[in-house]
Amino acid sequence: MKNREVELLAIGGGPANLALAVALEELGSTDLAASSLVVERSQTIQWQQGLLMPWAKSQVSFLKDVVTLRDPRSRFSFLNYLHTVGRLDDFVNLGSSTPHRIEISGYLRWVANSLSKVRLELGRTCTSIEPRRDERGTLIGWVAGFDDGTSVSSRYLVIGAGRDPYVPPVFAGLSADRVIHSTLYRSRVAGLSRELAGQVAVVGSAESAAEMFQALQEDLPNCDLVWLMRSIGLKKYDTNKFVNELFYPSFVDEFFAARPEARAQILAEMHRTNYSGVAAGLLDSLYCDLYLDRLTSRNRKRVVTMAEVTAATEQGGQAVLELTDRRTGAVSEQRFELVCLGTGFVREPPALIRKLATSLGLDQVAVSRQYRLILDEPSPAACYLQGVNEATHGIADSLLSVLAPRAADITQDILSHRRQAIDDHHSAAGRFEPEIHR
Ligand SMILES: Cc1cc2nc3c(=O)[nH]c(=O)nc-3n(C[C@H](O)[C@H](O)[C@H](O)COP(=O)(O)OP(=O)(O)OC[C@H]3O[C@@H](n4cnc5c(N)ncnc54)[C@H](O)[C@@H]3O)c2cc1C
Repeated sequence: MKNREVELLAIGGGPANLALAVALEELGSTDLAASSLVVERSQTIQWQQGLLMPWAKSQVSFLKDVVTLRDPRSRFSFLNYLHTVGRLDDFVNLGSSTPHRIEISGYLRWVANSLSKVRLELGRTCTSIEPRRDERGTLIGWVAGFDDGTSVSSRYLVIGAGRDPYVPPVFAGLSADRVIHSTLYRSRVAGLSRELAGQVAVVGSAESAAEMFQALQEDLPNCDLVWLMRSIGLKKYDTNKFVNELFYPSFVDEFFAARPEARAQILAEMHRTNYSGVAAGLLDSLYCDLYLDRLTSRNRKRVVTMAEVTAATEQGGQAVLELTDRRTGAVSEQRFELVCLGTGFVREPPALIRKLATSLGLDQVAVSRQYRLILDEPSPAACYLQGVNEATHGIADSLLSVLAPRAADITQDILSHRRQAIDDHHSAAGRFEPEIHR
């Protein structure tokens, strides 16, 4: 197995680790940035490629890019991107602070291409992470294994690989080609014939289900669409300006310091700001589509509320869903060519992180205020987690809102951890070797 060594390995080339790469270049020491590597499993940098439809919009301001809330003068800002690609006038004239998702995606690609010290490797899927120990058993770093059989060792590890898609267990009996989770929507639908006919189910009542329902009308125009949800109906996101203040990066300190019951209250009351809701504009557009469908007597689009999928089997190349009406308890069966799941993400940390915690003998995955994984042992190595700390850092943790300041927090923590490691080395020479890899 071919092994390489870097000082810092960042897994995932999404907004979180791109923000980190920029912070390393702008705030870190030159040698740290030059010995840092970001690995991304896709062949290209894209933002949420599963639902990257041309009409889909970001739900946060373009000012929440990878740098502006940390340093509005950074050359990596979204505005500088627009200026560089010659679209600044048009964007200003558009008069919207929430760009199309494809524009954010283009911006992130430009950020990745503009890095001058931190290296980025595409098409590299990390399949395992193991702690690395010296002969005395001291934890001295990490070894990340990749799908091509190679590995990368590092003293610092930053995991920013997003969250694992949630597929409810009831769908486990369906073969992979009958089910599409929203994270794979675009690539999977691109492989289907537009002539496909029959019924397609969309499951879920939040934004990703709504976006798939909208997209399917174009992508599979000959299919009848049935939108299944357990809730009483669709609801819009809670987006008022008062509650939006709780997405300020400064709120992370307040949330982190709050008592457990206060954290629970805040997360519960903020739930609809990010989950179980749909953007108001999309709701209006979907309602209009459904109205026109009935008006023209086509009746090819249905929303079925309070419907629970209680079983799913496959017969004759179709998915057969057993539906229980939550109002009456009545059970019925319906056949579908395809089932599209807008069922969100697993709440627990991703499998990659949970397995690492097990290898470290940790009972739980918890991070410090500076996002450093809390270990049960002293170590000259450290691991940081991005985007999976909602329980301790608040609901904005998985969003763009806190990216830029969080990248600075992590960079500064690594710098001070390195200084400490070098001091420790001088005072207890031989305990470990704080090599600086170039
Ligand atoms: C459809 C959708 C729309 C959204 N819209 C918004 C929005 O408008 N505003 C907002 O603030 N938030 C939005 N979000 C939330 C979203 O999580 C954040 O915007 C942001 O993408 C989080 O960045 P991240 O880098 O933590 O994770 P991700 O964006 O998920 O990036 C993780 C990266 O890691 C890569 N990766 C994963 N596993 C591996 C591996 N094993 N090896 C190598 N690479 C790996 C992935 O390919 C991906 O590129 C949206 C989420 C979704 C699903």
